[in-house]
Amino acid sequence: MQHTCSMCGTTYEFEWEEGTPLPKSFPFCSARCKAADLGKWMNEEYFISTPLPGMMSDTERELLVELGKSLDDDTE
Ligand SMILES: [Zn+2]
Repeated sequence: MQHTCSMCGTTYEFEWEEGTPLPKSFPFCSARCKAADLGKWMNEEYFISTPLPGMMSDTERELLVELGKSLDDDTE
């Protein structure tokens, strides 16, 4: 299947059959783009669209950063 990455715009191919899980980085071309999108969402859109300060604690942010790192490691 072909898909265009929502983050970097790269068109990439991936193997997927109906009934099987999508690639875990879907809809992005890589775990890096997925993590970048997550960071973008957290740093900008989340705070602009959500007038509730303090909902995301520093600890939760760090956990998400760690999650991004571990996803990166899986791409090798
Ligand atoms: Zn991408």
